[in-house]
Amino acid sequence: MSNSPLTAQPKAGGTPMIDPFGRHISYLRVSVTDRCDFRCVYCMAEDMTFLPKAEILSLEELDRLCSAFVTLGVKKLRLTGGEPLVRKGIMQLIGNLSRHLETGALEELTLTTNGSQLGKYARDLAAHGVKRINVSIDSLDPEKFTRITRWGKLGPVLDGIEAAKAAGIRVKLNTVALKGVNDDEFHRLVEWCGEEGHDLTFIEVMPMGDIGGENRVDQFYPISLLRAHLAQRWTLVENDHRSGGPARYVTLAETGQRVGFITPLTHNFCESCNRVRLTCTGTLYMCLGQDDAADLRAPLRQSESDELLVAAIREAIARKPKGHDFIIDRRHSGPAVERHMSVTGG
Ligand code: SAM
Ligand code: SF4
Repeated sequence: MSNSPLTAQPKAGGTPMIDPFGRHISYLRVSVTDRCDFRCVYCMAEDMTFLPKAEILSLEELDRLCSAFVTLGVKKLRLTGGEPLVRKGIMQLIGNLSRHLETGALEELTLTTNGSQLGKYARDLAAHGVKRINVSIDSLDPEKFTRITRWGKLGPVLDGIEAAKAAGIRVKLNTVALKGVNDDEFHRLVEWCGEEGHDLTFIEVMPMGDIGGENRVDQFYPISLLRAHLAQRWTLVENDHRSGGPARYVTLAETGQRVGFITPLTHNFCESCNRVRLTCTGTLYMCLGQDDAADLRAPLRQSESDELLVAAIREAIARKPKGHDFIIDRRHSGPAVERHMSVTGG
């Protein structure tokens, strides 16, 4: 076993979580709400139906679940959604979870956000030990930004990023590559991130959940084409940097800047997948691209001790599949998995 901090033994809770393919599970992503103040065209239908509030775990239950995972060796916790910063009481949850950073049990507490509420929360996030965040921006053109997000405004998001930077939080941008929508902005996004000192990752559209009248085949812009497009202006040097996630990176020789690519339609990240995903109803998905899931809400509520919960988590990890089954082509234009990305948070 490597000496990487992410593979360190848990301090309590017994043996670490190792799946049937020998992968050490050290990364938990938690969708704290399925709700969002945006309606991005590739993510949700405009008239999206959300879960009834009664089904959603309370903040205390989310804390208990996350803490059980930390006890079992999770070192990195990412809060996502929906939009995590629209969940009522979210800063209380983050503040409480930060105790695991203080004890050293957790190495990183982070989040993925659309940035709309960052201006309000950046300082508190920094105070709670959040050092890096991912912010999703698909266009730097205010009008196009609103067209993509339907309900979003670019100005407050850019102000939020400034506030995060001022609070000492490193920002990585996530951009979904959308054919005929933002493919004229890839160079501009790279340049802007270079100027502002942000890392940037481009993501391919994934076939998750119904998105109403939109068609993902029309939206799909392959990362292979995007790389070729960037190579017309920049010298892309292969980089073996790993962020603990599925992105593969290049360095731009001209600026030294790092640019990542996520291509879920290939399997190039499954063999090193160290993560599982928890929904706001306590359902654990062992793979982003498969439907198999485990209910952790029942064992959580059945007993005040964590024994049943830990047993259910271990049983779920033992079922983690080898890889996903994503495919987008003309014959498979429907979703590969029924749930939306906002259920598991990407
Ligand atoms: N609302 C937050 C945000 O947008 O960053 C967090 C949740 S969002 C589901 C997480 C990431 O998933 C975002 O970067 C978003 O662009 C991406 N995403 C959503 N639906 C997607 C899809 N169908 N294919 C690829 N990426 C998707
Ligand atoms: Fe909301 Fe994020 Fe989905 Fe956009 S991508 S609709 S911001 S959850």
